[in-house]
Amino acid sequence: MTGRRELYLQEMGLGPVWRARAVPADAPGLVDTGTMDWAELKAAVAGCTACELHKTRTRTVFGVGDENADWLFIGEAPGADEDAQGEPFVGQAGKLLDNMLKSIGLKRGDNVYIANVVKSRPPGNRNPLPDEIAACMPFLRRQIELIQPKLIVTLGKVASETLLGREATIASLRGKVHAYQGIPLIVTYHPAYLLRTLQDKARAWEDLCLAKQTMQDLCSKEPATL
Ligand code: URA
Repeated sequence: MTGRRELYLQEMGLGPVWRARAVPADAPGLVDTGTMDWAELKAAVAGCTACELHKTRTRTVFGVGDENADWLFIGEAPGADEDAQGEPFVGQAGKLLDNMLKSIGLKRGDNVYIANVVKSRPPGNRNPLPDEIAACMPFLRRQIELIQPKLIVTLGKVASETLLGREATIASLRGKVHAYQGIPLIVTYHPAYLLRTLQDKARAWEDLCLAKQTMQDLCSKEPATL
Protein backbone atom coordinates (compact mmCIF):
# COMPACT_ATOMS: atom_id res chain seq x y z
CA MET A 1 0.00 0.00 0.00
CA THR A 2 2.66 2.49 1.01
CA GLY A 3 4.82 1.58 -1.98
CA ARG A 4 1.90 2.27 -4.27
CA ARG A 5 1.27 5.66 -2.65
CA GLU A 6 4.90 6.52 -3.16
CA LEU A 7 4.48 5.71 -6.84
CA TYR A 8 1.46 8.02 -7.11
CA LEU A 9 3.49 10.72 -5.43
CA GLN A 10 6.34 10.32 -7.86
CA GLU A 11 3.88 10.38 -10.77
CA MET A 12 2.55 13.66 -9.41
CA GLY A 13 6.08 15.02 -9.43
CA LEU A 14 5.93 15.50 -5.66
CA GLY A 15 9.13 15.23 -3.77
CA PRO A 16 11.81 15.00 -2.68
CA VAL A 17 10.89 12.00 -0.59
CA TRP A 18 12.68 12.42 2.71
CA ARG A 19 12.94 9.30 4.84
CA ALA A 20 12.83 9.23 8.62
CA ARG A 21 16.00 8.08 10.35
CA ALA A 22 15.31 4.54 11.50
CA VAL A 23 15.42 3.89 15.23
CA PRO A 24 17.00 0.45 15.71
CA ALA A 25 14.24 -2.03 16.60
CA ASP A 26 16.35 -3.38 19.45
CA ALA A 27 17.31 0.00 20.94
CA PRO A 28 17.44 -0.54 24.70
CA GLY A 29 14.42 0.51 26.74
CA LEU A 30 12.08 0.95 23.77
CA VAL A 31 8.60 -0.54 24.03
CA ASP A 32 8.02 -3.14 21.32
CA THR A 33 4.71 -2.09 19.73
CA GLY A 34 5.34 -4.10 16.54
CA THR A 35 2.16 -6.22 16.37
CA MET A 36 -0.06 -4.44 18.90
CA ASP A 37 -3.71 -3.82 18.07
CA TRP A 38 -5.48 -0.62 19.15
CA ALA A 39 -6.50 -1.96 22.56
CA GLU A 40 -3.00 -3.24 23.33
CA LEU A 41 -1.43 -0.02 22.14
CA LYS A 42 -3.77 2.14 24.26
CA ALA A 43 -3.04 0.01 27.32
CA ALA A 44 0.71 0.19 26.67
CA VAL A 45 0.61 3.98 26.43
CA ALA A 46 -1.55 4.32 29.55
CA GLY A 47 0.90 2.25 31.58
CA CYS A 48 4.12 3.48 30.01
CA THR A 49 7.04 4.28 32.32
CA ALA A 50 9.73 4.31 29.63
CA CYS A 51 10.79 7.88 30.35
CA GLU A 52 10.78 10.31 33.26
CA LEU A 53 7.60 12.06 32.08
CA HIS A 54 5.45 9.34 33.66
CA LYS A 55 6.41 10.73 37.07
CA THR A 56 4.85 14.15 36.50
CA ARG A 57 1.93 13.51 34.13
CA THR A 58 -1.68 13.41 35.28
CA ARG A 59 -2.71 11.12 32.44
CA THR A 60 -1.37 10.02 29.10
CA VAL A 61 -2.79 11.52 25.93
CA PHE A 62 -3.10 8.74 23.39
CA GLY A 63 -4.69 10.43 20.39
CA VAL A 64 -8.21 10.97 19.16
CA GLY A 65 -10.28 10.48 16.06
CA ASP A 66 -11.19 8.13 13.28
CA GLU A 67 -8.91 5.09 13.43
CA ASN A 68 -9.27 4.69 9.66
CA ALA A 69 -8.78 8.37 8.89
CA ASP A 70 -7.25 9.59 5.65
CA TRP A 71 -5.89 12.63 7.52
CA LEU A 72 -3.42 12.42 10.39
CA PHE A 73 -2.40 15.61 12.22
CA ILE A 74 0.59 15.28 14.54
CA GLY A 75 1.50 17.73 17.28
CA GLU A 76 4.30 17.82 19.80
CA ALA A 77 3.16 16.85 23.30
CA PRO A 78 0.24 17.45 25.66
CA GLY A 79 -0.02 20.74 27.51
CA ALA A 80 -1.78 21.38 30.81
CA ASP A 81 -5.34 21.11 29.41
CA GLU A 82 -4.55 17.93 27.53
CA ASP A 83 -2.81 16.43 30.57
CA ALA A 84 -5.96 17.11 32.60
CA GLN A 85 -8.45 15.84 30.01
CA GLY A 86 -6.50 13.05 28.26
CA GLU A 87 -7.27 14.37 24.76
CA PRO A 88 -4.90 16.15 22.36
CA PHE A 89 -5.38 19.80 21.43
CA VAL A 90 -8.23 20.75 23.76
CA GLY A 91 -6.79 24.09 24.97
CA GLN A 92 -6.45 27.40 23.10
CA ALA A 93 -4.14 25.84 20.50
CA GLY A 94 -6.72 23.11 20.03
CA LYS A 95 -9.45 25.63 19.31
CA LEU A 96 -7.26 27.13 16.61
CA LEU A 97 -6.50 23.66 15.25
CA ASP A 98 -10.24 22.93 15.04
CA ASN A 99 -10.69 26.17 13.10
CA MET A 100 -7.77 25.29 10.82
CA LEU A 101 -9.45 21.95 10.13
CA LYS A 102 -12.77 23.67 9.47
CA SER A 103 -11.12 26.05 7.01
CA ILE A 104 -10.41 23.10 4.69
CA GLY A 105 -13.69 21.31 5.32
CA LEU A 106 -12.43 18.92 8.00
CA LYS A 107 -13.66 18.12 11.49
CA ARG A 108 -11.94 16.44 14.42
CA GLY A 109 -12.91 12.76 14.45
CA ASP A 110 -14.45 12.78 10.99
CA ASN A 111 -11.88 11.13 8.70
CA VAL A 112 -9.29 12.93 10.85
CA TYR A 113 -7.01 11.54 13.56
CA ILE A 114 -5.00 13.79 15.89
CA ALA A 115 -1.97 12.54 17.79
CA ASN A 116 1.18 13.85 19.42
CA VAL A 117 4.78 12.69 19.16
CA VAL A 118 4.98 12.46 22.95
CA LYS A 119 2.06 11.10 24.96
CA SER A 120 2.88 12.59 28.38
CA ARG A 121 3.13 16.26 29.27
CA PRO A 122 6.64 17.68 29.63
CA PRO A 123 6.70 19.72 32.85
CA GLY A 124 6.10 23.44 32.34
CA ASN A 125 5.37 22.78 28.65
CA ARG A 126 9.07 22.59 27.81
CA ASN A 127 10.01 20.85 24.56
CA PRO A 128 10.27 17.09 24.88
CA LEU A 129 13.85 15.86 25.20
CA PRO A 130 15.39 13.57 22.57
CA ASP A 131 15.28 10.54 24.88
CA GLU A 132 11.61 11.22 25.67
CA ILE A 133 10.82 11.42 21.96
CA ALA A 134 12.74 8.21 21.28
CA ALA A 135 10.93 6.41 24.10
CA CYS A 136 7.52 7.50 22.75
CA MET A 137 8.07 7.06 19.01
CA PRO A 138 7.19 3.35 18.91
CA PHE A 139 3.65 4.34 19.93
CA LEU A 140 3.25 6.94 17.19
CA ARG A 141 4.88 4.63 14.68
CA ARG A 142 2.35 1.91 15.47
CA GLN A 143 -0.54 4.40 15.38
CA ILE A 144 0.52 5.37 11.87
CA GLU A 145 0.77 1.72 10.82
CA LEU A 146 -2.72 1.01 12.15
CA ILE A 147 -4.37 4.15 10.73
CA GLN A 148 -2.59 4.02 7.34
CA PRO A 149 -3.45 7.67 6.65
CA LYS A 150 -3.30 8.98 3.12
CA LEU A 151 -1.68 12.21 4.33
CA ILE A 152 0.17 13.37 7.43
CA VAL A 153 0.30 17.02 8.50
CA THR A 154 2.95 17.79 11.10
CA LEU A 155 2.30 20.75 13.37
CA GLY A 156 5.46 22.60 14.35
CA LYS A 157 9.15 21.95 14.59
CA VAL A 158 9.26 19.02 16.99
CA ALA A 159 6.76 16.87 15.08
CA SER A 160 8.21 17.83 11.70
CA GLU A 161 11.83 17.16 12.64
CA THR A 162 10.94 13.92 14.38
CA LEU A 163 8.95 12.50 11.48
CA LEU A 164 11.42 13.66 8.86
CA GLY A 165 14.45 12.61 10.88
CA ARG A 166 16.44 15.80 10.47
CA GLU A 167 16.81 19.24 11.95
CA ALA A 168 15.36 22.09 9.94
CA THR A 169 13.29 25.23 10.27
CA ILE A 170 9.59 25.15 9.51
CA ALA A 171 10.22 27.88 6.96
CA SER A 172 12.57 25.59 5.02
CA LEU A 173 10.29 22.54 5.26
CA ARG A 174 6.89 24.03 4.43
CA GLY A 175 5.55 24.39 0.91
CA LYS A 176 6.74 20.93 -0.17
CA VAL A 177 5.35 17.43 0.02
CA HIS A 178 7.70 15.22 2.02
CA ALA A 179 7.08 11.60 2.97
CA TYR A 180 7.17 9.47 6.09
CA GLN A 181 7.47 5.78 5.25
CA GLY A 182 6.00 6.48 1.83
CA ILE A 183 3.07 8.49 3.22
CA PRO A 184 2.90 12.07 1.92
CA LEU A 185 3.69 14.55 4.69
CA ILE A 186 3.12 18.29 4.80
CA VAL A 187 4.67 20.59 7.38
CA THR A 188 2.98 23.58 8.91
CA TYR A 189 3.28 25.82 11.93
CA HIS A 190 2.14 24.71 15.37
CA PRO A 191 -1.18 26.31 16.36
CA ALA A 192 0.33 27.54 19.66
CA TYR A 193 3.00 29.38 17.64
CA LEU A 194 0.32 30.84 15.37
CA LEU A 195 -1.53 32.20 18.41
CA ARG A 196 1.60 34.25 19.18
CA THR A 197 2.68 35.01 15.59
CA LEU A 198 -0.34 36.21 13.71
CA GLN A 199 1.64 37.17 10.61
CA ASP A 200 2.36 33.49 9.87
CA LYS A 201 -1.32 32.55 9.79
CA ALA A 202 -1.47 33.31 6.06
CA ARG A 203 1.43 30.90 5.50
CA ALA A 204 -0.36 28.24 7.55
CA TRP A 205 -3.39 28.75 5.35
CA GLU A 206 -1.21 28.15 2.26
CA ASP A 207 0.06 24.94 3.87
CA LEU A 208 -3.48 23.77 4.52
CA CYS A 209 -4.42 24.51 0.91
CA LEU A 210 -1.41 22.49 -0.23
CA ALA A 211 -2.52 19.65 2.03
CA LYS A 212 -6.05 19.75 0.66
CA GLN A 213 -4.83 19.83 -2.93
CA THR A 214 -2.44 16.95 -2.26
CA MET A 215 -5.26 14.87 -0.76
CA GLN A 216 -7.47 15.60 -3.76
CA ASP A 217 -4.65 14.58 -6.11
CA LEU A 218 -4.02 11.38 -4.15
CA CYS A 219 -7.70 10.47 -4.15
CA SER A 220 -8.09 11.12 -7.87
CA LYS A 221 -5.06 8.91 -8.62
CA GLU A 222 -6.21 5.95 -6.51
CA PRO A 223 -7.95 3.14 -8.37
CA ALA A 224 -11.62 2.87 -7.37
CA THR A 225 -10.98 -0.57 -5.85
CA LEU A 226 -8.68 0.83 -3.11
N1 URA B 1 0.30 21.17 21.76
C1 URA B 1 0.55 19.98 21.18
O1 URA B 1 1.52 19.84 20.46
N2 URA B 1 -0.27 18.99 21.41
C2 URA B 1 -1.36 19.09 22.17
O2 URA B 1 -2.08 18.10 22.33
C3 URA B 1 -1.62 20.34 22.75
C4 URA B 1 -0.79 21.38 22.55
